[in-house]
Amino acid sequence: MSNFIYVDGQYYRKDNARVFVNDRGYQFGDSVYEVVLFRNNIFYDFEDHIHRLRRSLKSLDFNLNKSDKVLFLICKYLIKLNKISFGSVYIQVSRGVFDRDHSFNKMKLSPVLVIITKNNKTDFLRNATGINAITLNDTRWKYPDIKTTQLLPNVLAKTEANRKNAEEAIFLDDKGFVTEGSSSNVWILDNNDNLFTRNLDGSILPGITRKTIFECAKLNQIKIIEKKFTQKELYNAKEVFISSASSFVTPVNRVDNKKIGNGEVGFFSKILRKTYFEIFE
Ligand code: PMP
Repeated sequence: MSNFIYVDGQYYRKDNARVFVNDRGYQFGDSVYEVVLFRNNIFYDFEDHIHRLRRSLKSLDFNLNKSDKVLFLICKYLIKLNKISFGSVYIQVSRGVFDRDHSFNKMKLSPVLVIITKNNKTDFLRNATGINAITLNDTRWKYPDIKTTQLLPNVLAKTEANRKNAEEAIFLDDKGFVTEGSSSNVWILDNNDNLFTRNLDGSILPGITRKTIFECAKLNQIKIIEKKFTQKELYNAKEVFISSASSFVTPVNRVDNKKIGNGEVGFFSKILRKTYFEIFE
């Protein structure tokens, strides 16, 4: 039985082990992990796993202030506490705990280390006789239309935007078409005053605000065309704005340091922003 779990410096009984709601691992999937097999007092490939853990941490721009030796000792002690002779240790490190914000730019964070053990005896006996498998398209993670907390790419994008003195990152698909913002839908007005937003083709979140903007546009006799547009069309737009429940209708004045229109808030953005608030009040 695995009864003890290590959380951030202490060993807790399973039922008392807790992480904070504002842990970025929980909020954003902003965490990394490793699983190391353990049998008869021996960790399998411990060093390689820790090496990969460090690489994962480094790639995501955070760190764990524990040496390999200390990690090893914690795992070893936990195995002993849990009286396991054949099992796995799950080593999880989240970026830390802080008030919710996609961007971790300038956040003072201490990574949180959690180690959980699992007994492998049953699995070992079960899979010795072989298993079945199926094939599936590799869709990891290609469901941006589902609002999950698996927000790591969004988190990294927003942080990069902030570091470049911008407030939002706009994603492009592999053909160079705009999908959406890291936490918003994107809209452009072309030079013929056509308002475009990408169609709901599974590559964007069907924004609730986006939907309401259709009503706002109708009230103002503005026609919306749901169609994907390119990065070039974005740059050359007369107006660009983003929409979300937390940003409402927010005009975008510059993209990649290029001025949109004359670099000031456009007429359509202003009207739609105003109508958005009016229809609820
Ligand atoms: N796209 C993404 C990726 C988002 O995170 C959000 C905000 N949740 C939106 C679009 C806009 O959705 P909504 O208008 O429902 O807030």
